[in-house]
Amino acid sequence: MLRALKVTEVMAIFYDTHAHLTDEAFLADLEAVLDRARHVGIQKIVVIGTDLEDSQRCIQLAERYLEVYAVVGWHPNEALRAPGDLRPVLRNLARHPKVVALGETGMDAFRLPPDETRRALTLERQELLFRQHLEVAAETGLSCVVHQRAIFDRALAIYAEYAAHVRAVFHCFAEGSEALHRLLALGGIVSFTGLVTFRNGEAVRQTVTATPLDALMLETDAPYLAPEPHRGRRCEPFHLIETAKAVAAVKGISLEELSRTTCQVAERFFPRLRPVS
Ligand SMILES: [Zn+2]
Repeated sequence: MLRALKVTEVMAIFYDTHAHLTDEAFLADLEAVLDRARHVGIQKIVVIGTDLEDSQRCIQLAERYLEVYAVVGWHPNEALRAPGDLRPVLRNLARHPKVVALGETGMDAFRLPPDETRRALTLERQELLFRQHLEVAAETGLSCVVHQRAIFDRALAIYAEYAAHVRAVFHCFAEGSEALHRLLALGGIVSFTGLVTFRNGEAVRQTVTATPLDALMLETDAPYLAPEPHRGRRCEPFHLIETAKAVAAVKGISLEELSRTTCQVAERFFPRLRPVS
């Protein structure tokens, strides 16, 4: 598969700004996964925690591998089993030099319990956790990695209260350009996944068109959402190159230009992600 890549495609470097490399899908062959990423020019990988134990594992990976950085937090889909107050632990983890942001946090109304009371309770818990992440982000000067599904307005309204002090990326962005502009107006940015490469991804490609290059990052969300032509398989960081090619095509720019802008945006967004020199 690697041999099929042309030399020009290997030249441009990219950062995978959102990957779950602590997922059990990578237990058996993480070294090979990192190797394949290096070979296609994925020079940095930001691994994202989904709860405290997982966040610790992300930090361990960041300590072991030079190109790996960690984001620590609690995923909204796991909200009901979160401790009441995450802030003290988040403050503590945020001190680690390779922790580059807080998250992923946010809100998800897509996967909720059917019972009405449980639904409301889950959303309340998600909101509380989201606010705790934003609060610690404001205190520490770190950015926030936000997951939002089927609840954009409420998630944006909460972010708006903190936006003067916190930069947020709404990751795996799949909303339309009106939502995009409301987020950008608050100083937020977006990142795009393999959805951009899907045959039925026309709506996302239109949002890519509307997104200024200085507010756009790339991610795999590995092990989920493998781009074409890997769709349906386990996604891994080297697949980012396919998403990069699709975004470059939509924007009508070269891979080198996209490399330059997306790496710059990532270095600005994650203050501890040092530039490649
Ligand atoms: Zn994620």
